[in-house]
Amino acid sequence: MNDASSSMGETGVRYRVMTAAAMAAHALTDTEQSADSRLQTLMDAHGRMLAARGPHSPLTFSAFRDLLRQDLSLLLPDGVPAEEMENVCLITPDGQFDDDLYDLEQEQRLVMRTLAKAARGGRPVNGDALEAEMDQEKVYMALKKRLNQTDYVAGRSALIQYPAGPVSRLRKLNLPSTVADFYHPIEHASIYDRWWFACPICRWPMKVTITRAGTRKTGNVQCFHRPHRTMGAAYHFKIPGTGRPPTLIPAASAPPVPSGNASVLFADTRGAVPDPIPAENHVALTRGVWRWTTVPGLVEIDLHKALEARGLRSVLWPDLDAYDLHVEVGTAASSKTVFRIDLKDYSNAILLAKKIRADEGDAGGADWLVVPDYRAASLPLLSSVCKEFGLNVATAGDIGALVCEKAGVSWA
Ligand SMILES: [Zn+2]
Repeated sequence: MNDASSSMGETGVRYRVMTAAAMAAHALTDTEQSADSRLQTLMDAHGRMLAARGPHSPLTFSAFRDLLRQDLSLLLPDGVPAEEMENVCLITPDGQFDDDLYDLEQEQRLVMRTLAKAARGGRPVNGDALEAEMDQEKVYMALKKRLNQTDYVAGRSALIQYPAGPVSRLRKLNLPSTVADFYHPIEHASIYDRWWFACPICRWPMKVTITRAGTRKTGNVQCFHRPHRTMGAAYHFKIPGTGRPPTLIPAASAPPVPSGNASVLFADTRGAVPDPIPAENHVALTRGVWRWTTVPGLVEIDLHKALEARGLRSVLWPDLDAYDLHVEVGTAASSKTVFRIDLKDYSNAILLAKKIRADEGDAGGADWLVVPDYRAASLPLLSSVCKEFGLNVATAGDIGALVCEKAGVSWA
């Protein structure tokens, strides 16, 4: 067994344990489903968990149920290291399913697919799920079909800047129908009565939940992307009279604007309380396209615009998306510096490090791996892995500052 396939084996066990546990935790917390169907899902998930753990690690149904509220790594069979699953909980202290698990599941899948490619000939893990293409990949293929850089950039920018809105507006974006197919009616989880709310940062529908304390009910509205919640995309509302729209109130005071290099691209949510929007005739991108195209794309476009505003030459997604940003400083060949930037917004730094190792650097030829400023904490781990492959690492704010310094202009 080579490195890739042994690593794929353990990653595969973690992935299968995580997806079975997530399925169960979802059923456990979804009080809108009938008790019967929740129990049926829990039993199905328990069966999957036993299959993932293997015959030497039995787990009773009641132990399984109890562990769902604890550290996810406790569900792993002996001998499989916790890695990215350490300190992850499926259910939040207030009894809700933690939406961050979606990111973890998708990131594990991306890593496993890369490992599976690296270990060609190795036994595939959980083949069906791995081979199924993800929405964000299908959408890129559909955009690339035209083989025209201008159309590609226009289409991808549209997915980033208009992730949700009225159907009439979507038509004006002029997207190929194979791309427009990724817009669907607003999901039930984002609707209160007949209203939805756009995140002030990404414009995608936020999650709506109702919590009960005694007889009192409160509405909660927050972006599905944790960093956006942290930056202020979290609200609550008093239950309005029948037929009336709710009025959002910020859940906490928004964080202060950071100082230094991170201040330039910071999304300031103060003074931007979203209005209720009728869901009728409104559509939103599927979650995969929003999470992997819109969310990182916001930082890519902001960085690009900030560099252009400082008089620098910056090209988005060159060569139909070999990497994200091509920046040149200096004109004479002798003094020219080129930055080939790939931006990655993984919630889990361990998984991103594994992906880089499996790709042996950047698959598209970038020489800078850049993370959003809100992922600055992942830099130490990423730097040590990237060094092996000659890949430089920085936050978006710091790469902006570095490029500007080369060009002799000011960033922050
Ligand atoms: Zn958001």
